[in-house]
Amino acid sequence: MGQTEPMGLYVHIPFCKAKCPYCDFYSLPADEAAMDSYVAALLRTMAHSPHTGPFDSLYFGGGTPNLLGAERLIGLAEGAFAHFDWADRPEVTLEANPGSLTPQALAALRAGGFNRISIGVQSLWDSELALLGRLHTAREALEAVRAAEQAGFGHISCDLMIGLPGQDMTHIAHSVAALSATAVDHLSVYLLKIEPGTPFYTRYAEPDPDAQADLYLGTVAELEQAGFTQYEISNFARPGGESRHNRKYWKLVPYLGLGPSAHSFVGGQRCFFPHSLEDFLAANNPFELWQTDGAGGGLEEYVMLGLRLTEGVELIKLAPLAPNGDLDSRLRPLITAGLARIEGGRLALTPRGFLVSSQVIGYLLG
Ligand code: SF4
Repeated sequence: MGQTEPMGLYVHIPFCKAKCPYCDFYSLPADEAAMDSYVAALLRTMAHSPHTGPFDSLYFGGGTPNLLGAERLIGLAEGAFAHFDWADRPEVTLEANPGSLTPQALAALRAGGFNRISIGVQSLWDSELALLGRLHTAREALEAVRAAEQAGFGHISCDLMIGLPGQDMTHIAHSVAALSATAVDHLSVYLLKIEPGTPFYTRYAEPDPDAQADLYLGTVAELEQAGFTQYEISNFARPGGESRHNRKYWKLVPYLGLGPSAHSFVGGQRCFFPHSLEDFLAANNPFELWQTDGAGGGLEEYVMLGLRLTEGVELIKLAPLAPNGDLDSRLRPLITAGLARIEGGRLALTPRGFLVSSQVIGYLLG
């Protein structure tokens, strides 16, 4: 299951300019002093880490990591390179939002070793961006993509959100067409979920699942046509554009996550830092806050995470799921219903299967 592959290092940046009304992630307002203290706390965390790699991927996620500014981000990347062991040519990714992404910052980041950027575009319709409460316009999003290209980022990913109230396929097709005319080589597509506790929860009813399914399947087809091959439920890439870092999560390759709310999978254990930024900043050694969530990497996780990928899971590893030894008849209903396929000794879900993946996984593990 890939244990010899180098690990991934995730650095969580929990700051955002404003809270988007649909978001239930852990994020906090940014201010200069908090960001300086946070960078210092992350560098202390790196210095105390019981795990040193080797890594071949460094990923700054959030929140809105580019709010830190190029200087702090480069300082953190240099800290990570100094404290840990690295394989050659690591993938170094920054999640960023358009609007606060300048050509100067992009050039500095590129010179500082960042080689992949993931931009929170969400849509190229201004009315959809306004509905989502995003702070950028469609024009600013495209400008950010082009600026990343001009700064020399060889890998550019964009997030798109589908299933928005009132959205139809023409809107999605427009966003896909505009992005596929750029150097973007990766797209992450998320179906809007109305999460309890968010302003959207009081504003909108739960979306109609049939309409959501149509939009998802339509988007998969649109992206295939535009040259983006689906490799995971929500992720699509041009050849060579797959995210090295995110694949580790689904293939049970160990990774270390730093920062409040960041999760890790190391030494066969699932671990996490609690949510509190305050505690994280106050700790001399933030690893003293680290908590274990139990063992990971077993068959259940292999099935749950592996079936997110279009390459699926090895049939041979599924034998324990058919206690009477008849795996074939256990899988046949999924194949007959068009939810899964068997190819080259592997079981994989079809796009229709991805739509009901929780039920399929429940069935297999039940
Ligand atoms: S920018 Fe992203 S992480 Fe921040 S509030 Fe909006 S959706 Fe949430």
